[in-house]
Amino acid sequence: MSVLVRSGLGLLCAVARGAIPSIWRGKYFSSGNEPAENPVTPMLRHLIYKIKSTGPITVAEYMKEVLTNPAKGYYVYRDMLGEKGDFITSPEISQIFGELLGIWFISEWMATGKSTAFQLVELGPGRGTLVGDILRVFTQLGSVLKNCDISVHLVEVSQKLSEIQALTLTEEKVPLERNAGSPVYMKGVTKSGIPVSWYRDLQDVPKGYSFYLAHEFFDVLPVHKFQKTPQGWREVFVDIDPQVSDKLRFVLAPSATPAEAFIQHDETRDHVEVCPDAGVIIEELSERIALTGGAALVADYGHDGTRTDTFRGFCGHKLHDVLIAPGTADLTADVDFSYLRRMAQGKVASVGPIKQHTFLKNMGIDVRLKVLLDKSNEPSVRQQLLQGYDMLMNPKKMGERFNFFALLPHQRLQGGRHQRNARQSKPFASLVAGFSELAWQ
Ligand code: SAH
Repeated sequence: MSVLVRSGLGLLCAVARGAIPSIWRGKYFSSGNEPAENPVTPMLRHLIYKIKSTGPITVAEYMKEVLTNPAKGYYVYRDMLGEKGDFITSPEISQIFGELLGIWFISEWMATGKSTAFQLVELGPGRGTLVGDILRVFTQLGSVLKNCDISVHLVEVSQKLSEIQALTLTEEKVPLERNAGSPVYMKGVTKSGIPVSWYRDLQDVPKGYSFYLAHEFFDVLPVHKFQKTPQGWREVFVDIDPQVSDKLRFVLAPSATPAEAFIQHDETRDHVEVCPDAGVIIEELSERIALTGGAALVADYGHDGTRTDTFRGFCGHKLHDVLIAPGTADLTADVDFSYLRRMAQGKVASVGPIKQHTFLKNMGIDVRLKVLLDKSNEPSVRQQLLQGYDMLMNPKKMGERFNFFALLPHQRLQGGRHQRNARQSKPFASLVAGFSELAWQ
């Protein structure tokens, strides 16, 4: 590990990134109180029609419709990331982020016996920036990976973003294979010659030895919201406001609803958000990792089963009322890592969540920053590197709000033949890069 950080990546230089806005999605916000205009968007018209014909909808259904409806969904036809979009993410802020994640995957690959092939699978790859940075590290460390067949698999529902990912990752002159009706809707070859395929659903990615990555993916999955009342848990629904035309409002269900089954029996909060889709995906990842090996790295803002109302909207780098102008703003909710851990239990081991600040520090971000600063004479590039570092690491910015969490096969932490010898007796997490301090040897 330490050798990779110090020598291999020394060859890489600074890559230009856009300006860094002062707001990011992980910022906490209690939704729905700000006065705002309420333009009647096509999505609002669609939702009003739907509610009029079948009744109020759950917050989960609202989120799903607004974000991923195949005809009008927020994610489907727009590029919302970056300076000119609605929010910014860590890979868009600094190249170092993706480089260190690339090192993490290589470290896991080495620790589990350097298989002769692996799939790198990313859920919700955005603009393809993160996987691009990871692949650049793989290329730079070609001597380490030279006998390994790598393929890239991207799970993406957005047509627009998949096109941007293809532009980021592949050469324009090499045509992509497209087949909208197939589970593999696009195929190509990356600039470094690695096969890359696009899917809408994780289920369609071939089962095989894989490293999975989900950065700011779980927070966009639909959540059900519940309020504790004297009559028991009542689910929050979205309804039409009878007082104001073309306006939506939150209402409480008059009786119990099925998603209540996802609330823990000993729950002490009076408002909770549950995300069954996250559970389904974690179960699928866990089963795959238990069956074929590999690992999953999840990074997102979230909590360990402690927060209450975290549902919020973002538009143009500003907080946005979640019920206003649906389809024009991003909707998101904090990830409950305690739920992810429960869903993995019994199938695979999990480590984390730990704060982004600690994870990146353990992965050697300070050394990497110094290498890049030493290599660049351009004051604007140096300033951008330092600003990016501050945004990722500052506890008041992304350093403490974002967390890393990993799923690993049980044998990986139980002292399998590849990772431990008789003299090593440290606790489990110390075997996994990023989740413990790097040992400089
Ligand atoms: N990981 C990227 C982008 C985060 S935004 C980054 O950190 O920069 C969320 C991403 O998930 C987008 O690419 C969006 O199109 C995708 N997405 C949202 N819902 C999805 C779903 N149900 N299945 C697959 N991808 C989804």
